[in-house]
Amino acid sequence: MKQDIVAEATSWLEKTLAVFREEFPAHANPSQPCRIRWNALLCDADLVALTWPEELGGRGLPTSDLIAFHELCAKHGAPQPINSIAHSILAPTLLQFGTDTQKSRFLPGIRAGTEVWCQGYSEPGSGSDLASVRTRAARVDGGWLVNGHKIWTTQAHLARWCFALVRTEPGSVGHRGLSFMLVDMKSPGVRVEPIRQLTGEADYNEVFFENVHVTDDNIVGEVGEGWRIAMAAAEFERGIYFLPRVVQLEHELHRAQMLLEDAKLNASDASSYRSRLLDVRDSCQVIRWRVEKVVSQVAAGKTPGTGGAILKLLWSETRQKVVELQLDLLGDRGGVGPEAEGEYTEAAAVVREFLWSRAETIVAGTSEIQRNIIAERILGLPKDKNANAN
Ligand SMILES: Cc1cc2nc3c(=O)[nH]c(=O)nc-3n(C[C@H](O)[C@H](O)[C@H](O)COP(=O)(O)OP(=O)(O)OC[C@H]3O[C@@H](n4cnc5c(N)ncnc54)[C@H](O)[C@@H]3O)c2cc1C
Repeated sequence: MKQDIVAEATSWLEKTLAVFREEFPAHANPSQPCRIRWNALLCDADLVALTWPEELGGRGLPTSDLIAFHELCAKHGAPQPINSIAHSILAPTLLQFGTDTQKSRFLPGIRAGTEVWCQGYSEPGSGSDLASVRTRAARVDGGWLVNGHKIWTTQAHLARWCFALVRTEPGSVGHRGLSFMLVDMKSPGVRVEPIRQLTGEADYNEVFFENVHVTDDNIVGEVGEGWRIAMAAAEFERGIYFLPRVVQLEHELHRAQMLLEDAKLNASDASSYRSRLLDVRDSCQVIRWRVEKVVSQVAAGKTPGTGGAILKLLWSETRQKVVELQLDLLGDRGGVGPEAEGEYTEAAAVVREFLWSRAETIVAGTSEIQRNIIAERILGLPKDKNANAN
């Protein structure tokens, strides 16, 4: 099976990227227009639902094939598709917990690329302490009226749908009384305000819900069961969503090595850079072993489990070191940008990745939160009574 997807994807990537690069050079990879276009091409080529069951429009391939595909995309320098939140977080969550109606309503739009999704969890004051979310939904005929304020919602400005964690039980606290809702972003009462980032882009947003109607059939799992679903989705996020980025890391390491070979350094500087390179190479090897562990969990039909926390922690901290190494090796050339979207030069692209990598130890649970998970759930250390369960 693996051979089939590798051969098919290799030939597709070579052909497609040759044309794609005329419009979007490699350094435009992070830009939204580039990622939107890439998503459409992947969908047209039937390459976003590799592991979904065939009866749901997928190709029924094992997760190891998905990894092989991500490897090839990384090797060819392909961009991340704009809808990767849907491909890697929502779709596996719906496949595991969604009703048949939800699967047939929402999976085709993800597969065809016609419906982009965003994730509405964080709120001002509820990030690491996610169980304290205050966005609430009140019972009305046939559904719910949602009121609240989400923040850092990646791609909300592009999204047609949002999966959100909402308090449906009045007076409940902590992770009880929450539900996992699918909110139509075109509903009356939804307002999206962009947040400008250090890189100059505006990938994330504030989202305001004012009396937004959500029908009963857009709750995933039971009412009040939202925490369990959101935690499984978080495991997919840490384990699956980050996989392409993890695979990409080895290629970024290779780029750092190329820069080192090209740099004109005295013996002492060269030796210090080499030892930094060896340090991150060791981490990449450990990450590779962790990927194999997560893949075997998912292949056995489980969520990635707490192993996803280890993977996310190692990846985000190692990536910061790799990009920092690249930036240092650029020397004076690194004193540029980041430039406006779509106008990246190679050096400005490294600067952009350096700035962006600072966010990666925060997104999807900060490094401190991952360490809490590892300490409590893997090492069995006593739980911090003041901490949350995220
Ligand atoms: C690039 C990016 C994209 C994002 N996209 C989304 C999205 O699409 N949807 C969404 O819902 N959210 C998104 N987020 C938000 C993200 O989930 C939160 O930023 C994250 O959970 C941290 O929450 P916070 O920002 O409120 O920080 P806080 O929770 O206020 O944390 C502040 C600091 O305190 C530390 N801290 C907090 N609690 C503990 C504890 N118990 N033990 C030890 N240290 C602790 C944290 O580690 C951190 O250093 C995104 C964030 C980033 C950076």
